[in-house]
Amino acid sequence: MSTFDVVDLIRTKRDGGDLSDDEIRWLIDAYTDGAVGDEQMAAMAMAIFFNGLDARELPTWTQAMIDTGERMDFSTLSRPTADKHSTGGVGDKITLPLAPLVAACGVAVPQLSGRGLGHTGGTLDKLEAVPGWRAALSNEEMMRQLEEVGAVICAAGSGLAPADKKLYALRDVTGTVEAIPLIASSIMSKKIAEGTGALVLDVKTGAGAFMKTFDRSVELARTMVDLGKAAGVNTVALVTNMESPLGRSAGNAVEVAESVEVLAGGGPADVVELSLALAREMLAAAGVDTDPAEALASGKAMDTWKAMIRAQGGDPDAPLPAPREVEVVTAPASGVIQSMDAFAVGIAAWRLGAGRARKEDPVQAAAGVTWAAGVGDPVTAGQPLFALHTDTPERFDRAKEALADAVVIGPDAAATPPVVLERIV
Ligand code: URA
Repeated sequence: MSTFDVVDLIRTKRDGGDLSDDEIRWLIDAYTDGAVGDEQMAAMAMAIFFNGLDARELPTWTQAMIDTGERMDFSTLSRPTADKHSTGGVGDKITLPLAPLVAACGVAVPQLSGRGLGHTGGTLDKLEAVPGWRAALSNEEMMRQLEEVGAVICAAGSGLAPADKKLYALRDVTGTVEAIPLIASSIMSKKIAEGTGALVLDVKTGAGAFMKTFDRSVELARTMVDLGKAAGVNTVALVTNMESPLGRSAGNAVEVAESVEVLAGGGPADVVELSLALAREMLAAAGVDTDPAEALASGKAMDTWKAMIRAQGGDPDAPLPAPREVEVVTAPASGVIQSMDAFAVGIAAWRLGAGRARKEDPVQAAAGVTWAAGVGDPVTAGQPLFALHTDTPERFDRAKEALADAVVIGPDAAATPPVVLERIV
């Protein structure tokens, strides 16, 4: 492959020019190998932040990232595959009920998940609250479980799109995370390399999301759907509401408990609605015509959940860890909850120990926040609004500070906001 001068490439993008396909492939390879330095890639990421990547450059950039690592192949499985990716939110435990629900309908779900960083939780951190459950599986274990159980939720190995691992860490410390082409190529390089046949994207929008405005969320969704389709993955996106947190809990064990309630046929209405909406999209994208509501009602999804947990060493019937301390925050006034700030609730859960400040920090399995009333529900002054769970009570004050203005209570009725705001195909 030809060799280019990285400074020329940075100048081209800085001045609004286009990079050729060869230049892009060379840049991504040279950065992954260390021949292009972090400072040079940081300058390039900032140039892309301002000047973007066009409709030719972006698929090439994404493919070049995929080509730095391995690709998984599920084509030998006896059933079709579908995966879901969420851009991250507060109380977003949907993967937990969704993966067994879709698997119970005959589609294999290879769900490679991550850990939480900052105010949004991580699926693996939540599942590790289940006694004995382990996140690390070899590719062979994953294939066996997909064939036998149908659903796997496990850690992504380091072999998928290693260029993204390096670039994402660099963007995180150079103020270049929020560039749509960089986010889209980062997410889609991993999902395409994973080898799923169908992909449903849950693009969150609002206070607790990465993308705060609806228009930017739609643009991100459109960009990712186009990238997926161009790579032969049947991709659909739902843009969903993250102004207020999902369900009635944010944290680790508390979110597992809520997911089990959903699988048992109960649970908060918004979690049930979003799980079913995403399940329908995944089944349709995989070409399977089954109603997931039946698998939920019949207990088949719960059976698959238990089998999935057992296959990864967990005990689905063991009690979940309980916090050493619980403190209650009460409603300051009577009225109807007009809004609940997802970001504030996420920060509170994180400060209680549910999340981590640095990648290597441990999380507390029992830490989190629960609430009994959500947007549109009436409350009376003095009634419990939030229950704060932690093993380390010195964390309560900072969590309560985060929640001080999180809930607006007013005299008027408040409509429950829609869960799904837009569908992008
Ligand atoms: N998640 C990713 O994997 N990459 C991004 O750039 C943003 C969110």
